[in-house]
Amino acid sequence: MYIADLHIHSRYSMATSRDLIPELLDLWARKKGIHILGTGDFTHPAWRRELKEALEPAEAGLYTLKQERSIPLEGGFFKEPVRFVVSGEISSIYKKNGRIRKVHSLILLPDLAAADTLSLKLEAIGNIRSDGRPILGLDCHDLLALTLEVCPDAIYIPAHIWTPHFSLLGARSGFDSIEECFEELTPFIRALETGLSSNPAMNWRLPFLDSFQLISNSDAHSPSKLGREANLLDIPLSYEGLYNGIQEGKGLMGTIEFFPEEGKYFYDGHRKCGICLSPSYTRSLKGICPVCHKRMTLGVLNRTLELADPKRKEGFLLPGAHPFESLIPLPEVIASSLGVSSSGSVRVGRLYEEMLKHLGNEFKILREASLDDIGRVGTKEIARRIQILREGTVTWSPGFDGAYGKPIFDFTEPASMC
Ligand SMILES: [Zn+2]
Ligand SMILES: [Zn+2]
Repeated sequence: MYIADLHIHSRYSMATSRDLIPELLDLWARKKGIHILGTGDFTHPAWRRELKEALEPAEAGLYTLKQERSIPLEGGFFKEPVRFVVSGEISSIYKKNGRIRKVHSLILLPDLAAADTLSLKLEAIGNIRSDGRPILGLDCHDLLALTLEVCPDAIYIPAHIWTPHFSLLGARSGFDSIEECFEELTPFIRALETGLSSNPAMNWRLPFLDSFQLISNSDAHSPSKLGREANLLDIPLSYEGLYNGIQEGKGLMGTIEFFPEEGKYFYDGHRKCGICLSPSYTRSLKGICPVCHKRMTLGVLNRTLELADPKRKEGFLLPGAHPFESLIPLPEVIASSLGVSSSGSVRVGRLYEEMLKHLGNEFKILREASLDDIGRVGTKEIARRIQILREGTVTWSPGFDGAYGKPIFDFTEPASMC
């Protein structure tokens, strides 16, 4: 079984870490336990140049970091080289049916040569040199047509489909159906990325999504955020295997998810006004912020309920759908156990590295390691939190209007009001 994180960014995207270089992506993928990693940002010429220097072909359509560039890791768990697949995200901003649409699309390609060819075509349309995730005035329908014309084996996946501001079904500037966006090309869309603020169960309540593969990726803007969400694939290790897994669900065994409450746009509200509300409360206020009296940012839960089939109640299980696991990144679990607010603190980092050295990669620790071992190498407090996590009984102070949600691990502490 392979774990794949297909949507990430390089240091050439806006507001991303300078550490997003091939060597550190490989290193962090091994630390996390990711077998197949998207390169991100294939449209950017300088990033493609770096990838060509740093990577070498592995199985058909996949790459590995050149051996001599690999950074050694202590501990016996990181032998297998990470496979890279060419990926990138494009932001389309355009007018359709009388409204401004802002939609992000994830594209996977079978090799760097296809990335060269597609980028050349996109260069004629807009600026792909200033941002690793370029903004183009190109209708998604036309982007899909162009992508398939250049590379019929490309995989085109609408990204984080519920994000309010930049997505296919987003409340602010998306569409109400997939057909409205892609029209006669809709059959070429086979997979949808559910994003951090929604999990498959929320998507199962919408019958018009039943036939799509629901996949999950980290959309990482720094190496330590890799694998926040990922896909479990039982496939032959090749681009073709990946294609069949993502597009047809052949060997797509499930996804690893954020708890949607942790996502930045789960509930409704106004961050600057300190207002965080459930969809039913928002409805009672007609969407107006009680502090500043302007329209609130409607979250992903609200938007999915708006388009859901009322007959599919909360907890509806879609027959045949693949399962999912909900996790919290280990640095956050450690931070919570130490009572520190930042998962990036030095103390958290030290304990994190110590646990990896003795217990294996992060997914292994979160999903498989015995609680006794976690307690012994880490602390009892960490083990207790991972137990709660595995039982799925974490309560939340939910994310809203761009602020991440926070887990509440203490049994005795009631969930916050919002
Ligand atoms: Zn995006
Ligand atoms: Zn407000």
